[in-house]
Amino acid sequence: MSGICENYKAIMQRIEAACERSGRNPSEVKLVAVSKTVGNDEINEAIKCGCTTFGENRVQDFLEKYDKFRNRAEFHMIGHLQTNKVRKIVGKAKLIHSVDSMRLLEEIEHRAGLLGVVQDILIQVDVSGEESKFGASYEDMTAMLKANEDNSHVRIKGLMTMAPFADDPEDIRWVFKKLHDVSVDIGSKTIYNTSMEYTSMGMTNDFEIAVEEGAGIVRVGSGIFRNTH
Ligand SMILES: *Cc1c(COP(=O)(O)O)cnc(C)c1O
Repeated sequence: MSGICENYKAIMQRIEAACERSGRNPSEVKLVAVSKTVGNDEINEAIKCGCTTFGENRVQDFLEKYDKFRNRAEFHMIGHLQTNKVRKIVGKAKLIHSVDSMRLLEEIEHRAGLLGVVQDILIQVDVSGEESKFGASYEDMTAMLKANEDNSHVRIKGLMTMAPFADDPEDIRWVFKKLHDVSVDIGSKTIYNTSMEYTSMGMTNDFEIAVEEGAGIVRVGSGIFRNTH
């Protein structure tokens, strides 16, 4: 078994253990393998181990890997997305995690409309106020949920956040808890074109805590691909 395979299986087991600790069903948690630092060989290896979902944060890398592996895996866009690059990935990304502005939302609606497809997205929310470079404020998020009720080509499937880096991930447990609470609150309302199916939170350093706090998607990169290339 390659290092990638061992790593992948170990991460899956740790997700299961975190689910057990918090009374969750492991089938509720989806692992996105963040392949942004690796090439085709590593992705191939991960697919052979049973990994079916990959996350990329650059449009160009996304497109190359999508073209190569689209028949064997699904690809998510997890990184900051510029409005002028939206047209390149709409209809190709299974899920866009990083929609953090009204402009971006409306450009996705426009491009998906031209293609006649419906694009699934998450709204990236800036929960901590520390990672303020990207991520919508609550006010912006609320405005986007409302505006999307009039759209026909975008479905909002949940929320995503990037927690600030912490040496001790326990220090940022509250960030995950808060995103989960916001998601439950939105989910209790009827908002057209919105369903809170996923909260995308947790990375290599903190995914177990995110799972304990209700993550529906964890995005793990170095935990799977480190020391393997
Ligand atoms: C790189 C990246 C990850 C994965 O980070 P690791 O610490 O390598 O697990 C998750 N989410 C986003 C948005 C990323 O850019």
